[in-house]
Amino acid sequence: MAQTDLSAAYASLSGDVLIDSLVWEGLPLWTEESPSTGLTVTYGFMTTALPAGETVVDFAPLDLGQQAAVRLVYATAEPLTGLHFVETADVSGADVAFGTADIADPGTLALTSTNEVLIAADDGTTTIDRQDYVYLDNAEWGGTLADARPGTLGYETILHEIGHTLGLDDTAYTQTLPDILDNTDYTVMSYNETDTYKSMFGVLDMQTLQYLYADSGSIVGFGVIPVMAWPGTPSSAALGQTLAAG
Ligand SMILES: [Zn+2]
Repeated sequence: MAQTDLSAAYASLSGDVLIDSLVWEGLPLWTEESPSTGLTVTYGFMTTALPAGETVVDFAPLDLGQQAAVRLVYATAEPLTGLHFVETADVSGADVAFGTADIADPGTLALTSTNEVLIAADDGTTTIDRQDYVYLDNAEWGGTLADARPGTLGYETILHEIGHTLGLDDTAYTQTLPDILDNTDYTVMSYNETDTYKSMFGVLDMQTLQYLYADSGSIVGFGVIPVMAWPGTPSSAALGQTLAAG
């Protein structure tokens, strides 16, 4: 029986080390998950631990401030990815589910795990159903992460975990980013903090999101669309040429 080629559905490397240092290689992209819902990603806040059957120590829901931070980060991510993020009360069916727990490793503030299921249809096509589970620690780091206003470590931690849900990997894991760039001034996926906690994705994060999602057609070229034109407004044909030349 013919297999559907799913290779385009997974994040792959670009050949540019600065982009690839942040690509979660092999992760299914939301844009390829399902033709009918490919551009919408749903998220929700767990009221009981997910996924069902997993042992989760001292589960608790996110508090209201942490929930507000999640909503704000996903709103931030919309123009960067072209994806539409929608909160849902159907948490067990959501693409991304958030909760808190006592994470065993005392050095771990938060973690994101992903689960993918291949679904074969009668017509021979195969689709991927991916679900992510994000846990914030509520033990050693509970007090720190309870303050999730922009500019805090709590907010930056949520930014980092949501970065994972968008297809970004830890620079400590990929180990290919030059040392001089491997800090949070350039990417929130670095473990090397600088003097201020970040409330926005870094320039390297944005560049990798551009690579992951422009390639899938969900956004057009990032940074090359003029917000103003001088002395006149270029025609769309001229703009097309500019893009093709660039
Ligand atoms: Zn991480």
